[in-house]
Amino acid sequence: MCRHLAYLGVPVSPAEVLVEPPYGLYRQSWSPRMQRHGTVNADGFGLGWYAEGDPQPARYRRAVPIWADENLADLARVIRTPALLAAVRSATAGTAAGEAAAAPYTGDGWLFSHNGAVGGWPAAAGELAALLAPADLLTLEARCDSALVWALLRRRLRAGQEVGDALAATVGEIAAAVAEQRQVARLNLLVTDGHVIAATTWGDTLFHRLELGRSVLVASEPGDDGPGWTPVPDRSVLLATPEAVTVRPLTTAAPRVNTTGAPRVNTTAAPREDRIR
Ligand code: GLN
Repeated sequence: MCRHLAYLGVPVSPAEVLVEPPYGLYRQSWSPRMQRHGTVNADGFGLGWYAEGDPQPARYRRAVPIWADENLADLARVIRTPALLAAVRSATAGTAAGEAAAAPYTGDGWLFSHNGAVGGWPAAAGELAALLAPADLLTLEARCDSALVWALLRRRLRAGQEVGDALAATVGEIAAAVAEQRQVARLNLLVTDGHVIAATTWGDTLFHRLELGRSVLVASEPGDDGPGWTPVPDRSVLLATPEAVTVRPLTTAAPRVNTTGAPRVNTTAAPREDRIR
């Protein structure tokens, strides 16, 4: 499955975060060290980033392997950004090829990536698709399980759910629907609005590295062998800023989404929170 990462903090070039680390996302496209499913991530890649003062991100995505792109080196060197999210893709069988299916997906100021698969897609996903309004279905970014996952998450964010709760509820909802079809979903989700990084672990690896007050990195696997990388337990929800990282167990109860706009009472917040500084 794919590898992804998100960064928040002092402005950096994407090259510093993606390309220069010896085992960084660039190298993870052909030689990931911890990937649990699949071998290489050569079915495209994407970078999304925020310019300071602009809440809408920019994206650069291609369908080619990241190492085959002629333009990324220059872009990655000259861009400066306080917030980015990037992914290298190993396409799930039956999904579309092409840059429209390469993460990050976007909308409402968010950047989103999915490391995993909705088992049995598309046949097993009918019940999930039925949760979406026709307009959401018709504007899916790609014919890809991850586009459906993003649309389900976005529906909750638009209804006013807090991002960690929306992520937990989305994972619970998808995992339950797919299990009913005797399939398995892997749902490592990663999202940012340029101010907070939120992520789930549900079937694959995830790490964070906090330099307190300076930066935070959340990545499928460490980009180097240096100190500070902290593994996130499977089935967790993570929230990260340069000030703090919180990780809590992901419970699977999925509250119904209230599409009239008012946030519902949160039933997915786990009682215990680990605050890591
Ligand atoms: N299912 C997603 C896709 O096809 C993500 C795949 C992955 O994690 N490798 O792009």
